[in-house]
Parts: sequence; C-alpha cells; structure tokens
Amino acid sequence: MAARRRTSFKLGVTGLGERQEIAPGLFINTFYRGCTPGFVVTDEGLILIDTPLIPKQAKDWREQIEAEAPGLPILYVFNTDHHRGHALGNQYFLPTTVIAHERAFKEMSGYTENFKERVYNSFKREPEIQEQLTNIEIILPDVTFTDCARLKYGGREIQLIYAGGHTPATSIAWLPEEKIAFVGDILWVDQHPYMAQADSLEWIEALRRIRTLGAERLVPGHGPVCRPDDTHRVEKYILFKRKRVRDYYRAGKTKNEAKSGLVGEMLEWFPVPLERKAKIESQIKSGINRVYREIQREEELAGAESVNGALQPPSNGAPVLHEPQAEANLIPTPVAVEANQ
Ligand SMILES: [Zn+2]
Repeated sequence: MAARRRTSFKLGVTGLGERQEIAPGLFINTFYRGCTPGFVVTDEGLILIDTPLIPKQAKDWREQIEAEAPGLPILYVFNTDHHRGHALGNQYFLPTTVIAHERAFKEMSGYTENFKERVYNSFKREPEIQEQLTNIEIILPDVTFTDCARLKYGGREIQLIYAGGHTPATSIAWLPEEKIAFVGDILWVDQHPYMAQADSLEWIEALRRIRTLGAERLVPGHGPVCRPDDTHRVEKYILFKRKRVRDYYRAGKTKNEAKSGLVGEMLEWFPVPLERKAKIESQIKSGINRVYREIQREEELAGAESVNGALQPPSNGAPVLHEPQAEANLIPTPVAVEANQ
C-alpha cells in the first residue's frame, strides 16, 4: 500500500467534463463536485443514480444525458443517500420519479429553509457557486423502500439494496448482469470517509457484503470506478478508529479527549490536501464523536451482560463483543499529501 495511485479526479472542481461509458449504456461522470453520478440507458427510458449538487453541473449532466439518449424519458432518479451531494440536484431532472430509502425520505423531509441557508453559506468562499444556489428546491423521494427494490426496464435489471453504515439511508444500486455496483458513500478511495451519521459496525458489514455481490467494478459515491478490493482500506480505517476509540474509552478518556487525541492518527490514513485540512479534521472529529457513542453503548451493554452472567469475560477481563475480527493488528499506512487534489 506504500505507493498509492494518484486519483484521476479533482476535489473542489467547479468545472465540467465528459461522461465515461463504463459498460454499454452505463455512464458516470467523475468531474462534478459532491458525487459521481451515473445513468443507465434502457430501451424504455433512463435510470439515474444520484444528482450533482451544483446547478451548473446538474444542468450539464442533464445535457449530456439527453445527448446520449435523445427522446428517452428519465424514468427514475435513485438517491444513494439524502446528503446534499447526492440528492440536492434532483430538481434538475424533473419530470421523473425519485426513489430512495425510507430514511432518506424522512431526512429530506426535514430540509427546511434553514438547511438551504446552510448549504448556501457553505459556499461563501466560492461566490461563483454560491450565486447558483439561491433557488434550492428539495425534491423528496416519490417512492421509498426499506430493504430492497428491483427495477426492470428495457432489458435491464437494477437492484436497489439497503446497506446502511454511512447513514441509516445508504443504499446501493446493483446491476447483476453488468456486474457493476453503485455503492454510494459506503466506499471512499483515497479520501477520508464521512462518518458523522455512521454506524461503524453496520458499515463494516456493508463493505463485506459488497465484496460478496460478485461485482467486478464498483462506482463509489465520489471519485473514479474501482474494484471490490478497494473496499479493504476504508474497512481497516473504520476498524482502526473503533479500536483506538475503545482504547481511549477504556482508559477513562472523555469524548473530547478522544477527538483531540485521535485526529492526528486518523489524518495519516488518507491524503489531506492542505486547503481542506481544517474541514477534514472537523469531519474526522465528528466521526470520532459518533464512534465514541457507539463504543460507549457496546461497553455498557457488555458490562451489564457480564454482570448478569450472560457473557463469559475472556481471561484479560475485557468484555466479549461482536467485534469484527482484525481490529487489533492495524497500523495506519501514512500516505503522501497531494496538495493538488
Ligand atoms: Zn453521503
């Protein structure tokens, strides 16, 4: 893992770029900010996966879609989660039917004027983007599912499968015929995963399930196409974070002590462009915050169970937990900072 390949996309871009056909009739675009959107051409119409956040890019994407499949309707827009980078561009693909997990519907139903203002304000350093974000319209899912849904149109089959982990809404689009899965923000390659709404155990489970799909290629929520093997790094990252947070918890450290104590260790796992360092640090801390609460619950539960005799404590006195294997032997592999990313 010492020589990490360079990523072929740039974060923070405001420009446009051409779509890439990753399989016949299956396209993605890695040039947009906020997500890697995709679309699938069927004989009956198009199925989109995620929508770009920045209006100029969303409109560009729609133009590219219409150029590729003139006259075909957009049957569905599937949002892999409810985050701004994946679902806020829905308004640019109407008329269509938006489909997402039931929890995404609930989260997006809570997007008030205040939320729109926060999105707007988050671009205060980029006025050319900010001025595009004055008319945000939240387009909620019309159709929701909780476990899975199957779309069969024009000779294509797309399975929408709940995965969780990253958020309680995160779902993937699996095309069994093409052996390609759009895995949303479960997979991060060369980037720190966003864990502020995470369930870390569920996330590890989701990564393992993705590896058993039989996929040949994965489209992550951000960045270029990758392989199922690319899921290992983020899994190790999460396992490492869980282990270190548990160390802190058991040493009697508070959540804030864990946050400030661990942020440096976590930063080493993925490249950190200088201009985004502060933001990434704050995201890492919100992830540690989340994991700390999880570990706290696990430890309290294990403590209560062992008091009740439900668990046999191991010889070292530590509670028995449903901890995924391999948490113990993790050493981060520092990576070079790529300032231009
Ligand atoms: Zn997300």
